[in-house]
Amino acid sequence: MTDLIMCQSCGMPLTDESRGTEADGSPSADYCSFCYQNGSFTQDLTMHEMLEINLQYIDQWNESIDTPMTVDEARAMLETVMPTWKRWQS
Ligand SMILES: [Zn+2]
Repeated sequence: MTDLIMCQSCGMPLTDESRGTEADGSPSADYCSFCYQNGSFTQDLTMHEMLEINLQYIDQWNESIDTPMTVDEARAMLETVMPTWKRWQS
């Protein structure tokens, strides 16, 4: 069993299809195509701006997890976990 790999910017699951690209066209190890293309981030966002974007997709999140979260629960969870993701460190 392998760990689920998530985009280190937005947290969506990273699959071969959803990976972003480095400047040389190779697949990104850390980021999805929504966040990262051709070696740079597609949008200049703060962590909290990204967090609010994520909350707009809570219905889709809830379809993929066992215990649905409210917006407040999801915000609290993201505020805890997002600072550990590579894009938002330091
Ligand atoms: Zn992403």
